Amino acid sequence: MKPGKGIPFVDLVTPHVELEGELLEAARSVLTSGMFIGGPVVEQFEREFAKFCDAKFCIGVSSGTDALRFALMAAGIGQGDIVLTVPNTFVATVEAILQAGAKAHFVDIDPRTFNMSVDALREYLRKHASNKVKAVLPVHLYGQMCDMDGIRKVAEEYGLIVFEDACQAHGSEYFSAADNEWQKAGSIGRAGAFSFYPGKNLGACGEAGAVTTNDETIAQRIRMIRDHGQNKKYHHVMEGYNGRLDALQAALLSIKLRHLDGWNAKRREAARNYNQRLAGVDAIVTPPEPEWSRSVYHLYVVRAQNRDDLQQHFQENGIATGLHYPIPVHMQSGYAELGFRQGDFPHSELASKQILSLPMYPQLAAHQQDHVINTLVQFYQSRAVHTGTI
Ligand SMILES: *Cc1c(COP(=O)(O)O)cnc(C)c1O
Repeated sequence: MKPGKGIPFVDLVTPHVELEGELLEAARSVLTSGMFIGGPVVEQFEREFAKFCDAKFCIGVSSGTDALRFALMAAGIGQGDIVLTVPNTFVATVEAILQAGAKAHFVDIDPRTFNMSVDALREYLRKHASNKVKAVLPVHLYGQMCDMDGIRKVAEEYGLIVFEDACQAHGSEYFSAADNEWQKAGSIGRAGAFSFYPGKNLGACGEAGAVTTNDETIAQRIRMIRDHGQNKKYHHVMEGYNGRLDALQAALLSIKLRHLDGWNAKRREAARNYNQRLAGVDAIVTPPEPEWSRSVYHLYVVRAQNRDDLQQHFQENGIATGLHYPIPVHMQSGYAELGFRQGDFPHSELASKQILSLPMYPQLAAHQQDHVINTLVQFYQSRAVHTGTI
């Protein structure tokens, strides 16, 4: 790889250089206010992000993991309850369920969208009618929303609370045929959890997260849970955590939020370009976008023949790629106690062996994307044996 020619997997420098003046000004005003925890700057970001998500309330917390955990706890999920999610997610989804005191059970994914399969959800509930399933926690993976009408319908039938892991889906939209409208990630379930980890579509300059909800009781409870269970200084009406969003991050997030729609549009444009230019390559499958979805492409994930060799070839050509995720949660050694085995969730397991995340960020330049596409096409053309259709 020639120096300076590499294509990174994400670019966490350029957006901050572009917005440097505004970000420094916002940081300076927090520094000179002396208000670092809570206060008007945090409240302002919460109002802005609630509005962005079409939700009534937003509660800033210290990470996406805390957002998930606090949302579950605030809705009364705990000891003895089962929460259903998918095995192909970032491990935090499952951590949050377990740390809320509940049990995590899995349903497999739809192999096309990589998201929770409504059929698998229904099948689980039909087969395990005696289980104490209290909630379902679908994950809008890679920036594309799950089939929420389908999930809501099944959840209603079985009396389950629906949450959304929207940690990769800031601004993503779903067309609900049931309600005849486009709906934003984080506005549909009882509560939605967002992460502002730096690499997310809306990223802080440190750790941060938020819960969105239309339920005032949930919002009030999370405000207490994140702040040592206080409803008033030193009045601890429940056991809580130190899980607040700080003012410095909130100030920076408010600035960056103004650019989020524009950044998401650029990601969609880059995705469209990848889709068009890679459509003729039989050895890969580009990510499908159902007509009811407007993905925000947190990640651009293809299924690829000879995935590991392709990744190696990219690396040799100075292109960084990623695997999201190489080991499904039910196969992680630290989660052996959950009692699942290889073969339990075949679609998730197969996906983990075939998926490859290509560079995807708003600042990805056309010539960089050309290089990624040409490198991929050349890899398959140069292989002696025809690899066939995947
Ligand atoms: C990033 C992420 C989380 C956790 O967010 P943190 O802010 O890192 O705690 C949870 N779920 C999914 C799907 C994520 O991508």
